[in-house]
Amino acid sequence: MTVFLPHPRLLDSPRGRDWPPYPEPAVPAGSARPPARADVVIVGAGLAGLAVTAALWHLGVRDVVLLDRDGRPGRRFFARVDRLEQRVLRSPYEHHPGVEGYRDCELLDFARLHWAALTPVERREVRMAQAGHRSVVPVDVFEAFCHHVATIHGAYARTWPGEVRQVLPDARGVAVRTADAEITARFAVLCLGEERRAAPEHWWPGDGVPERVGYWDEPAPDAGTLIVLGAGLTSAHLIANALAAGRGVHWIVRREAERYQCSDVNASFFRAEGRARFDGVPWADRLALMRRERRASVMFEFRPGFAAAEADGRLTVHRGREVTRLTADSRGATVLLADGTHVRGDAVTLALGTAPSIGTGLLPDALVGALDGWPDLDERTLAFRRAPRVFAAGAAAGMVLGPAGRNIDGHRVATARIAATIAAGLSRDDAYPVGEAHASVH
Ligand SMILES: Cc1cc2nc3c(=O)[nH]c(=O)nc-3n(C[C@H](O)[C@H](O)[C@H](O)COP(=O)(O)OP(=O)(O)OC[C@H]3O[C@@H](n4cnc5c(N)ncnc54)[C@H](O)[C@@H]3O)c2cc1C
Repeated sequence: MTVFLPHPRLLDSPRGRDWPPYPEPAVPAGSARPPARADVVIVGAGLAGLAVTAALWHLGVRDVVLLDRDGRPGRRFFARVDRLEQRVLRSPYEHHPGVEGYRDCELLDFARLHWAALTPVERREVRMAQAGHRSVVPVDVFEAFCHHVATIHGAYARTWPGEVRQVLPDARGVAVRTADAEITARFAVLCLGEERRAAPEHWWPGDGVPERVGYWDEPAPDAGTLIVLGAGLTSAHLIANALAAGRGVHWIVRREAERYQCSDVNASFFRAEGRARFDGVPWADRLALMRRERRASVMFEFRPGFAAAEADGRLTVHRGREVTRLTADSRGATVLLADGTHVRGDAVTLALGTAPSIGTGLLPDALVGALDGWPDLDERTLAFRRAPRVFAAGAAAGMVLGPAGRNIDGHRVATARIAATIAAGLSRDDAYPVGEAHASVH
């Protein structure tokens, strides 16, 4: 058997390069408050929200308002990768944000246009992508490209800061409420992304997280022995960073072995044949497939470094161990395991994955129709079946698009369905008096 072992230096792209400047993004008109009406409100200006904006733009739908907690397209994604000091994406060049089939420059074109800014390793990856092989995309290139997509499709000018608290559809449209604004739209698209997964309640008593214990997306102590819980790429970054800082690391994984894989799901799920495994398939089968395929794994590039660190004792991997409890005091933290042993260190970081935000808490529960943690979506349009003017893109579309629904590539597929449905719906709304048009949708 051939063992695929990409070189770890692929993980080290520079971050924070200067890219040729674009015209300054326009500030939203009236800046502080979004308009009271719009054709479409997009809740969440992450990578999925950006893709929806671009697709609608190409279909001539420009009266769009993006509302985002962070107030700037893509901010949460880049904040997360930077917290992990992640320098390259896991997805390859072909998984570009934005849309397909229009005149837009795609991610690979963009990298080639900025050839002079790339390192020799990065140029080789571009050539790999051109030859149809797996390629690694620098976060720097990806961020500059997202900025390009957001600028040319007018996303900066249409994004307002605000935490959306309610999305209330009725026969006439959708009311989207923040703490201090309400926008009435004909359609709303929820692009909420994912929240970090919380530790099981029995790991410690009470509500607060014990001292010396923290989640992957929070600031953490940067000295002493680190204990990392979780088996995915986030854990890998935390471990690599701690080892690079000269710290000892304990890595606790529930399975018998950690899993190395190029992509976070099998590559077939990025193609039509993989999505077909979900199309029209009974719910229980889809659920089983999702559980089997969406398992934590780490990019191959980490393996040589981890193997060397394990061999010389800087990294201890506790395989096949179930955590039962965490305790901590001013001298250190202890992780108790189901086999009665324990692991002691100076700090614990929890990297237990993420859970899709599916609209609960914003839409009334009855309209989300949640089953097993997934919303009830129409497969053809990604509209909520019980609220046809509201759509979901990103991780929430997983049970329609398969395990790649949360990925950049899945956003493009979701976006094509959603944007076409909205554009058609808007032209129908324009052609008929409001009452008639809405009678046909509900
Ligand atoms: C560290 C990390 C690395 C990853 N790397 C890759 C990769 O290489 N390739 C890949 O395909 N995928 C990757 N992913 C998965 C990745 O999260 C998605 O591809 C992408 O970020 C999803 O985009 P999104 O728009 O759905 O979510 P996000 O980018 O998280 O955007 C959602 C936005 O919605 C906002 N929001 C949520 N609720 C509300 C509300 N009520 N009101 C207002 N705003 C709200 C959030 O603040 C956020 O800005 C990675 C994920 C992580 C955490």
